[in-house]
Amino acid sequence: MSQTRKVYLDYSATTPVKEEVLQQMIPYFTQNFGNPSSLYTIGLEAKAAVDKARAQVAHLIGADPSELYFDGGGSESDNWTIFGVADAMKKKGKHIITTKIEHHAILHSTEFLEKHGYEVTYLDVNKEGFVDPAALEDAIREDTILVSVMFVNNEIGTVEPIKELCEIAHKHGVLFHTDAVQAIGNVPIDVHDLGVDFMSMSSHKIYGPKGEGGMYIRKGVRIPSFIHGGAQEKGKRAGTENLAGIVGFGAAAELAEQNLEHHRKHCSELRDYLMDRITAEIPDVIVNGPSDHSKRHPGNLNVTFAKIEGESILLLLDSFGIAVSTGSACSSKSLKPSHVLSAIGVSDELIHGSVRFTVGDFTTKEDLDYTVDCLKAVVSRLREISLL
Ligand SMILES: *Cc1c(COP(=O)(O)O)cnc(C)c1O
Repeated sequence: MSQTRKVYLDYSATTPVKEEVLQQMIPYFTQNFGNPSSLYTIGLEAKAAVDKARAQVAHLIGADPSELYFDGGGSESDNWTIFGVADAMKKKGKHIITTKIEHHAILHSTEFLEKHGYEVTYLDVNKEGFVDPAALEDAIREDTILVSVMFVNNEIGTVEPIKELCEIAHKHGVLFHTDAVQAIGNVPIDVHDLGVDFMSMSSHKIYGPKGEGGMYIRKGVRIPSFIHGGAQEKGKRAGTENLAGIVGFGAAAELAEQNLEHHRKHCSELRDYLMDRITAEIPDVIVNGPSDHSKRHPGNLNVTFAKIEGESILLLLDSFGIAVSTGSACSSKSLKPSHVLSAIGVSDELIHGSVRFTVGDFTTKEDLDYTVDCLKAVVSRLREISLL
């Protein structure tokens, strides 16, 4: 089929690198290629670029730059926290609390630990994906060493009450981590106000390059290095710095901070427009996730189309040049029903009819009009076929 238009509606899977970000990165591949650990001039210049990026990312989340460590992305930060705390605190206990709706970077790490003698409690969430603070308090034991609750869910957009959950963990002397990959650049964040001990971040979800991320570690909190080797990142994350990647993450963080209000307004207006048109013009649809949009990722819309397969919708929309995802991108290669939609009580049959649309800074109203027109045709065609 000839494609006239390209519409990308999967900003929670990844984002394009913004032109301004790319321009700032380019010199660090070529002229300014120094190793930040070297003591001569181009090394010192590279070190200064890393320091600048550290200040930019720290500023976005209200951290002191000394509390920010660059690494290889959100998955690494999640793994680092789970395995690092498990090791550092094993004398205190081997019990970890997390939720049923975390990213696989958390869930597959805790499942690995379960095979090695750790116990993990997976908290339930309600129909809109919210963790109940009272349930967290009930789950905490003498031997609990870590609570990890994601800030914003990547499939249904739920913004968890992190400050309240963190206070409960701390009241019981337990460390608190949040996976904020979907939160930074989308919701205002002040780590000192939240009080969290660890926070995972990623560059490629905020218009920066892929394979670059960061970890916030509150001053005074100890965790062993995850990658052993040189003394980079104050000995906490070895390996020659991904210089251009770090510069790109810093530039993207600064832009995200400047654009935060505009980005939130732009995305939530477009998301609401898409939701209103889909629910008004397509029968038998259910919107998943928080109904209170002040507690929802500004660009997230998750919809179940009853009686048809989300995979078929995805493939047919792709033939019109439209990119969406079913459940989470990580499960797109398997037909296992999304663990997040399962956790909020959606039946397996309806999960298979669910599609995630995520809008971003480059989405336009025309993109959404085109999408709804195609979607109406695709859905009615698939429903006709399913009746045959
Ligand atoms: C994308 C994502 C990750 C993984 O980040 P990478 O940088 O791609 O490794 C982790 N957690 C959440 C919630 C995500 O959306």
